[in-house]
Amino acid sequence: TESLATRDPELFGSITDELGRQRDEIELIASENIVSRAVMEAQGSVMTNKYAEGYPGKRYYGGCQFVDVAEQLAIDRACALFGVAYANVQPNSGSQANQGVFTALIKPGDTILGMNLASGGHLTHGAAPNQSGKWFNAIQYGVRQQDNLIDYDQVEALAVEHQPKLIIAGGSAVPRQIDFARFRAIADKVGAYLMVDMAHFAGLVAGGVHPSPFPYADVATTTTHKTLRGPRGGMILTNSEEIAKKINSAIFPGIQGGPLMHVIAAKAVAFGEALRPEFKAYAAQVIKNAQALADQLMKGGLDIVTGGTDTHVMLVDLRPKGVKGNATEKALGRAHITCNKNGIPFDPEKPTITSGVRLGTPAGTTRGFGEAEFRQIGQWIVEVVDGLAANGEEGNAHVEAAVKAKVEALCQKFPLYPGL
Ligand code: PLP
Repeated sequence: TESLATRDPELFGSITDELGRQRDEIELIASENIVSRAVMEAQGSVMTNKYAEGYPGKRYYGGCQFVDVAEQLAIDRACALFGVAYANVQPNSGSQANQGVFTALIKPGDTILGMNLASGGHLTHGAAPNQSGKWFNAIQYGVRQQDNLIDYDQVEALAVEHQPKLIIAGGSAVPRQIDFARFRAIADKVGAYLMVDMAHFAGLVAGGVHPSPFPYADVATTTTHKTLRGPRGGMILTNSEEIAKKINSAIFPGIQGGPLMHVIAAKAVAFGEALRPEFKAYAAQVIKNAQALADQLMKGGLDIVTGGTDTHVMLVDLRPKGVKGNATEKALGRAHITCNKNGIPFDPEKPTITSGVRLGTPAGTTRGFGEAEFRQIGQWIVEVVDGLAANGEEGNAHVEAAVKAKVEALCQKFPLYPGL
C-alpha cells in the first residue's frame, strides 16, 4: 500500500524528472507519442500480476477469466480498426512481432528481401547486426539515387534473382506512401509472402488517412506505441486463417512465454480510443502538421528528403547548411526540442554523425499543436541550425537560450498530463 514516492524515492525521482522533461520539451521523435491517462492506468494495473500463457479460452493457467476479457477486447478492436479477420496482440515489441512472423513462415537459412537501413529500413528487416541478418540469407533493396523513392524495379530484379520466401515492405524513416500493390505483384511473381511492417504509419491507417496494407499483404506487423498511440508493444494482423494459426504458435510457445497482460489491456484501451471519430481528426492533423513543418524548414533553407512527406515523418537533409546530424540533435536538445540524428539515403557521414535529423509530428499533435505551432517550431529549428552553421558545433548559446524560453512558453500553453 506504500506509494512509490515513499517506497523508492530514488526511482520515483527519475519518473518525476521524466514527466518534467516531457512537459517542458517539444517531442519531435517520429516514433514516439503521448498515451492517454486511461492507457497508462491499464498498463499500471493488477493485470501485471497474471500469468496467462496461451490465448483467450485456451490458457495453461487458471484464473484467466478476466484477462481473457481484456485480450479478447484487444483482438476484436484491432480487427475492427484495421478491417482484418485475425490479430495477435501478444508480441512484446515491434521487433518480436517481426520475429514472430519469421518463426511462423520461414526457416533459418531462407532468403528474405527487406529494405536496407541506410534507405530507411528497420534493423529487423535483415540488417547484418540483427538476428534477421544472421539467421536468414538477407537481401536488401534501397531507394533510387535520383529521388530517394523506393526502387521498385530493383526490388523486382532482386526478387527474381534471389527468389526470397518473404518480402518486407515498410521502414523507420520512409516519408512517402508505399506502393503495396506493386509489392504484391512482385511477391506473386516469385511466390513469396508479403509482410508489411506498418509500425510507423499504423495510426494513420487506423485513422483512414493512409492506404491500408490490406488486402495486399499476407501479414502486417506493427508497434502499438508510435502513431497508433498505445502502450509500448507489438501486434500481428492477417486475413488468412492458416497464417493466423502459424503466427499464434510462433508467438507462444515459439518465441515468447507469458504475455504481458497489463500491456495487452492497455492496447485494448488504445485501440478503443483509435476507433473513435476523434482519432480520424488526430491522424489527419498529424499529416497536415508534418507537411507544414516540412514546408517551413524548406523555406528556411533546409532540404527535406523526397521534397516533403505524405505521413507523420520527414528526414531533414542538413547539408545545405553544412551542419551534421549529431551536432544538430544536441543543439536542438539544448533548446528543448527533442529529435534524433538520422542518416539520409546515400549519406556520406558515418551513422554516429549523419547528415540528417528525423522529425515527426505524432507526439506534438497529441499535445494539441496545429499547423501554426509547427510552423513556429520549424522557424526555431532553422534559427538553431543557423547558429550551428555560423559557430560550429558549439552553436549559438544566445539563440538556443532564446528558443528554449519560447519552447517552454509554448509547452505551458499546451499542458501535458495536467493534474498528474
Ligand atoms: N519496425 C519498424 C518499422 C520500426 O520503426 C520499429 C521501431 O523502431 C520496429 C519495427 C521495432 O519496434 P520495437 O522498438 O518495439 O522493437
